[in-house]
Amino acid sequence: MHCWVCDQPAHGVCRFCGRAICKDHAAKMPLFLCMYLGENNTPKGLVVADALWCGVCQPQPEPIGMPEMF
Ligand SMILES: [Zn+2]
Ligand SMILES: [Zn+2]
Repeated sequence: MHCWVCDQPAHGVCRFCGRAICKDHAAKMPLFLCMYLGENNTPKGLVVADALWCGVCQPQPEPIGMPEMF
């Protein structure tokens, strides 16, 4: 696979959209994994702080509604 931006050999894949990306063009973005209830029923989110991001796609901070699919 080759980098989406510069066409050099890629070192990783964007966690958000799946584009391949090289070290030069890799960026980082917190990745929200899931939500769970912690102590005292406090909602907590599980987040990967430095998830690999291609810098091209635009991940939404929260799940968006898709009413047209239903
Ligand atoms: Zn690149
Ligand atoms: Zn991406």
